[in-house]
Amino acid sequence: MYETTYHRPSSLDEAAQLMSGSGGEGKFVSGGMTLIPTMKQRLAAPSDLIDLRHVDALKGIEVNGRHIRIGGGTTHAEVAQSDAIKAVCPGICELAGLIGDPAVRHMGTIGGSIANNDPAADYPAAMRALGATIHTTKREVAADDFFTGLFETALEEDEIVTAVSFEAPDQCAYEKFRNPASRYAMCGVFVAKRDGGVKVAVTGAGSDGVFRWDAAEQALSQNFDPSALDGLSVDEGMMMSDLHGTSAYRANLVKVVTKRAARNAAGH
Ligand SMILES: Cc1cc2nc3c(=O)[nH]c(=O)nc-3n(C[C@H](O)[C@H](O)[C@H](O)COP(=O)(O)OP(=O)(O)OC[C@H]3O[C@@H](n4cnc5c(N)ncnc54)[C@H](O)[C@@H]3O)c2cc1C
Repeated sequence: MYETTYHRPSSLDEAAQLMSGSGGEGKFVSGGMTLIPTMKQRLAAPSDLIDLRHVDALKGIEVNGRHIRIGGGTTHAEVAQSDAIKAVCPGICELAGLIGDPAVRHMGTIGGSIANNDPAADYPAAMRALGATIHTTKREVAADDFFTGLFETALEEDEIVTAVSFEAPDQCAYEKFRNPASRYAMCGVFVAKRDGGVKVAVTGAGSDGVFRWDAAEQALSQNFDPSALDGLSVDEGMMMSDLHGTSAYRANLVKVVTKRAARNAAGH
């Protein structure tokens, strides 16, 4: 048995003070969809749980023209159901609607998901393909610099993800090949096209977590058609291999799923 003290701050300042008072042993909790199971398994035993769900500054979705800002405490269900986002960037709503099951989508938050950076989580792929900015209580970080490895991010222990923001691309789509048991991605690919080119980000497959597939980006930037990916492949040595699938299987999945995402984004 171990003791955990639960706190319910109503502002970011209060949350930060509680964290500094915990001597580095506390944890923020949002939806609790990852942290609470981890605590139940005794893989985490925080001295203090600092609940972010009642902090108004983390709530809300703002869409101004094509500029989208999603508060860190926004649930996956809120993103999936946002008509304002859907009107300019339907791909991210589709992605949010594919996360877990209804209970996970109604509790889990975008801030918790990207802070956790599970190598099979969906949002990291969208953040990188959309060129998103991650807003925290201390700074703004480009998505490409935020995700640093398996379950690793640029966040410091006492730093809170307050929001993510990005410009809606001209066309985008997310395609996911699910593990039928966990519903996490065996491979998930977000494709986003703008005037300046195409970005392709892959989750669930890379041995170092989410990655951008440069060769696919160049090919699709020249010809935004799935056939542009013919002849391309990812390095099998950089893919995850586990009881769910070998690295060779995942390398093949990356190509198949990227083609599907490109086809959907292109409106084929
Ligand atoms: C059955 C099941 C199926 C799932 N399927 C999927 C899936 O298909 N795809 C997918 O992407 N995810 C899936 N998830 C994970 C889910 O999306 C979680 O919501 C997400 O991983 C964590 O979000 P949370 O808000 O619950 O965070 P919590 O569990 O509360 O916290 C997770 C971590 O992030 C930290 N944290 C939380 N909020 C913040 C913040 N604002 N700033 C800084 N740090 C913060 C916490 O301290 C903790 O370390 C699944 C989970 C379950 C239980």
